[in-house]
Amino acid sequence: MNIEITDPYTGQRYKTFPQSSPEQVATALQNGAAYFETALQQSPQERAAQLLTLAQLFRDRQDELATEATHNMGKLFREGQGEAQAAANIAEYYAQHGPAFLQDRPYNIDGQHASLEYTATGIIVSVEPWNFPYTQVMRVFAPNFILGNPIILKHAAIVGGCAALFEQLVAAAGMPTGAFKNLFLSHDQVDKLLADPRVQGVALTGSEAAGRSIAAMAGHNLIKSTLELGGSDAFVVLDDADIPAAVEGATVSRLRNAGQVCTSAKRYIVRKEVAADFIAGIKHNFQTQILGDPSDPATTLAPLSSRSARDTLQKQVDAAVQEGAQIVVDGGAVAGTNFFKPIVLSNITPNNPASQTEFFGPVAQLYIVDSDEEAIRVANATPYGLAGAVYSQDIERAQNVARQMITGQVFLNRPSVGVPQLPFGGVKNSGYGREMSDLGILEFANQKIVVH
Ligand code: NAP
Repeated sequence: MNIEITDPYTGQRYKTFPQSSPEQVATALQNGAAYFETALQQSPQERAAQLLTLAQLFRDRQDELATEATHNMGKLFREGQGEAQAAANIAEYYAQHGPAFLQDRPYNIDGQHASLEYTATGIIVSVEPWNFPYTQVMRVFAPNFILGNPIILKHAAIVGGCAALFEQLVAAAGMPTGAFKNLFLSHDQVDKLLADPRVQGVALTGSEAAGRSIAAMAGHNLIKSTLELGGSDAFVVLDDADIPAAVEGATVSRLRNAGQVCTSAKRYIVRKEVAADFIAGIKHNFQTQILGDPSDPATTLAPLSSRSARDTLQKQVDAAVQEGAQIVVDGGAVAGTNFFKPIVLSNITPNNPASQTEFFGPVAQLYIVDSDEEAIRVANATPYGLAGAVYSQDIERAQNVARQMITGQVFLNRPSVGVPQLPFGGVKNSGYGREMSDLGILEFANQKIVVH
């Protein structure tokens, strides 16, 4: 089975990669295990310089990285440049702070001293999605490189070119063989890989379905997993909010990356006093998007990553409408292309499946509420709990709403973002574990007590 990449804008075959052979998998495991032994003898500080070199390569070659993302999954070229820089930021952050996060912690026991030491555990398999083909990988690779855990990457098939480029840059940074290996694997091959005793963890970012499957395999093999899964984030607008700012934030948060972001503002929950102004602003912004070539700087909304992604989204909209949802801003799949014009749906009742599912593209749901309590209730009425936002000029009031939202992160008066300094992850069906920050580097660390 070959990995075929189709350019989402042109519809043309772009690149083909052969699936990794059993021999290539065996070599990756051998090299990873050998690197693990070496890394145990080194200090995290010794690895930091190489991570800085990798960061610089991501900056220097951002145009090449952006071009590859554009042709693999349709990302706007300038968003691809931004992503390359964001990946560089993650690498720099762990190069600068990672060693300090891994400092021994002292404990006392009956007059004796003990220290908690953070050490590597073994090979970690990183299973990643196509929507942010570089930062998703860097979130796992950078902290684990400092820690000394080798990474084997199984990237989403449609971004095989981005995965291969990531591997080239790691080699160009002079990082040792075995520290990072990209493989083109089927799901069955991933299952086999997770059963190898040299593999001690799996970090997945992807859909709920993938999460259930990977977590089951990890449980079966008694290895640790982290799951960064989907979301249906609430974007709450209270009646004292700065409406132009809320409209701007809600637009960017729903349409960035053509709406294919786990932490997009997928559900607008708006107090009825300001709903008319809010929706007028959103309608204007959604209907003035420029759909076109993602390499053209004039384009503001890229095609979806694949024809099947476009079709799935249209089916979700049709099913929602069938169950009584109303279209407030009209759009939808553009025939013969992967484009999808932005849509806003309202009147979504609790028994409408739309209220319980993630829409992975430019479709927003609108819920108009009478009170802050109702806003909180609606925000929490989803199986997901990834991120969210609250807009209000009264910070105490916004904090009170944020405190009651069952989610991994809440941003006040700004849309949610993923930055290396902040822990990132969810609760409920959005998964478990945290990436980035000090918490991210500890997920796959052996927390070993040494008494002396
Ligand atoms: P996906 O279909 O679940 O795929 C994600 C990755 O998992 C791909 O590499 C995929 O490989 C692999 N995979 C899927 N099922 C598998 C299985 N049974 N065994 C082994 N590997 C498996 O998700 P996606 O469509 O690429 O990405 C969109 C989803 O990711 C959305 O739900 C989004 O919200 C979520 N996401 C979450 C975060 C976060 O940080 N929480 C960030 C970004 C995206 P193949 O490509 O070969 O199928």
